[in-house]
Amino acid sequence: MSWSNWSGSVRAPAAVQRPRTEDELAAIVQRARTVRPTGAGHSFMPLCASDDAIVSLEELEGELTVSADRTTARIPAGWSIKRLTAALWEHGLALANQGDVNPQSLAGAMATGTHGTGAGLGNLATFARGFRLIGADGGAKWCDATTEPDLFQAQRLSLGMFGIATEIECEVVPAFHLAERIEKRPWGEVRERYFDLVRDTRHVEFWFFPHADSVILKTLELCDPCDPPPSTTDMEETAFRRLLNVGAFIPQLVPTLQRLMMRTDMNGRRRGPAHAIFPSDRTIPFEEMEYEMPQAAGLETLDEVVGRIRKKRLPVSFPFEFRVVAPDDIWMSPMNAGPVAAISMHQYAKMPWRALFADAEAIFRAHGGRPHWAKRHTLTRDDVDALYPMAERYREVRRAADPAGKFLNPHLSELFS
Ligand SMILES: Cc1cc2nc3c(=O)[nH]c(=O)nc-3n(C[C@H](O)[C@H](O)[C@H](O)COP(=O)(O)OP(=O)(O)OC[C@H]3O[C@@H](n4cnc5c(N)ncnc54)[C@H](O)[C@@H]3O)c2cc1C
Repeated sequence: MSWSNWSGSVRAPAAVQRPRTEDELAAIVQRARTVRPTGAGHSFMPLCASDDAIVSLEELEGELTVSADRTTARIPAGWSIKRLTAALWEHGLALANQGDVNPQSLAGAMATGTHGTGAGLGNLATFARGFRLIGADGGAKWCDATTEPDLFQAQRLSLGMFGIATEIECEVVPAFHLAERIEKRPWGEVRERYFDLVRDTRHVEFWFFPHADSVILKTLELCDPCDPPPSTTDMEETAFRRLLNVGAFIPQLVPTLQRLMMRTDMNGRRRGPAHAIFPSDRTIPFEEMEYEMPQAAGLETLDEVVGRIRKKRLPVSFPFEFRVVAPDDIWMSPMNAGPVAAISMHQYAKMPWRALFADAEAIFRAHGGRPHWAKRHTLTRDDVDALYPMAERYREVRRAADPAGKFLNPHLSELFS
């Protein structure tokens, strides 16, 4: 059976192989002409596509172990965020932050700099403390900040090019509970208060339908211990799905449908263990582009993109999502130049998205944005060099780890070979 990503926009002829042991994995790597590791296939760019071998670690043997001081855990790299956060909870531990869904593998999420929201919280790759890797020759090796530090630096945001991670040492924190609050607010008001909200709230984000005047504001704050919530999701998607299908059939109706959507009651409250509150169900397929903007330029950039969509009455049927992420020191992280405002642009997967994304991408780039590596972008090799001072060093480490390019595919070769 062939492979496809979550949204269905990337397909590959190779069947997915699921080794149960590191020896089986090493044999696959040794046999293959090229091999791409995959997690849950939640990336929109063709990162996992291969015409030879695709390998998933879902079934690889391994277990979670917690360090004596309880600040780190060794986690099988192919475990989903859902599985590992449930296992950590049994030990009274948690991840300090998560994105808005949890089927992704830990390795896949770190490999692309997946993030949640929170001014004081970095992306998931910043939690990495060490990696056990199966290299291009099939041999196993460990890297961390002191053992093979360059390999560790590159592997923190690796796009799966430096080896296949089988185990990850990850920073963890004591278990905590969260109270979620969702409110519809006028855009002008949220815009005005935004930097205060970012400063005063542990996790804040908003969704913005480009043709509507209100936004959906979501905050998460620490709260006292409580039971898991009755619902697994922040917002119900049934009404939205109906409107999307009408809009896909008659795109000119999209602006009106969005204003209608924003008239419905959206306010919501949930409380529960952090790992049950961070993720929500996202059951409607979409395509996504995301740019990480210098934080000070975020709102202005969003205004410009939304202004353009409104002016041309473009049928962008999903809301924008606007989050904040703390800076880091990872060579290829789009957050490595300072705090970012992460602006995600989505389009219903049943509707055209390329031209819409191209229009917005020019604005994101003009304001100094750098794309999320897993989401749609059109960077060239020259763009990568212009945006990332450490790009050539990253390529050197890649060449040393994999001289024959076994872990490359055409998309990655173009940018990093
Ligand atoms: C519904 C949805 C919601 C999302 N929400 C968020 C969000 O809130 N925040 C955010 O930042 N992103 C989000 N994303 C993007 C998503 O988190 C990233 O695409 C992430 O990389 C997906 O993880 P995965 O396990 O599916 O990895 P894949 O997409 O399968 O792979 C991603 C990369 O990891 C590499 N990789 C996978 N396993 C290994 C391994 N064992 N060793 C080495 N390399 C490996 C792959 O080769 C590839 O380069 C979302 C995507 C979807 C579809």
